Amino acid sequence: MKIAIVGPGRMGSEVAALAREESHEVVTTLGRDDAISRDTLAEADVAVEFTLPEAAPDVLSALARAGIDAVSGTTGWSDHLPDVRRVVKEAGTGLIHAPNFSIGVAVFRRWLRTVASDLDGLEEYDVALHEVHHTRKVDAPSGTARLLAETILAETRRKDRWALTPGDGDGGPLDAGVLRITAERVGWVPGTHEIVLDGPDDQIVLRHEARSRRGFARGALSAAEWIRGRRGVFTLDDMLDERLTSRDQGGEG
Ligand code: NAD
Repeated sequence: MKIAIVGPGRMGSEVAALAREESHEVVTTLGRDDAISRDTLAEADVAVEFTLPEAAPDVLSALARAGIDAVSGTTGWSDHLPDVRRVVKEAGTGLIHAPNFSIGVAVFRRWLRTVASDLDGLEEYDVALHEVHHTRKVDAPSGTARLLAETILAETRRKDRWALTPGDGDGGPLDAGVLRITAERVGWVPGTHEIVLDGPDDQIVLRHEARSRRGFARGALSAAEWIRGRRGVFTLDDMLDERLTSRDQGGEG
């Protein structure tokens, strides 16, 4: 695959390094001062974008207008998704986006749906979410925490919204309808997410811990292969659904 990296930061560099190891070709790397056009994208088959929340909507629209299929890993731009979707549709290109490209997190979310759907019958257990990331991360809660929270809210009547709270001891009565999210920023942690089910006598913790950025890069590269030649906007769930379904069917399709 011939790949254009858009956003030469921590994630862009990780994707480029893994791509080279896997014998793909990184044909160009575009930063914040580079224009996006068919010319600057060189011979790329697909673009992999990891920029910043405020940049991503314009960058993704420019990639679609340049006629290239794209993978977007940037978090925190979902309010602009309807506009980007419109541009991608008009351009007839493909876009796959996910706030977390780790296949492990996608599997975690599938399991979480089952756990969350049991909550309505388990009133003695409260549920909360905790995430930990490195200190240079700009958004809180993380895009993945938001995604996990929305996954829980969709499956249970016990919680109707999520709120980022400063953690224990912040005062004020607890609203039972709020799914509490706590975010911790420390050191170099690439991304840890915990779902805590706490009952009167015990506690269940579902935990996903990324060991490095490699897992995100690996998922983004798989997504780059998958999105080529598809039209429309997809998420990592769409890719995983297809992968697991075709396994169920003995590898057909
Ligand atoms: P970073 O700050 O190291 O890199 C961002 C890069 O984008 C910088 O080089 C910056 O100069 C560049 N940039 C900014 N505006 C640009 C523009 N208009 N065009 C091209 N480049 C531009 O950040 P990072 O750690 O690489 O993370 C990038 C994004 O990816 C963040 O939103 C982060 O939350 C997210 N992230 C997602 C995943 C995932 O799996 N989806 C994993 C880790 C991080």
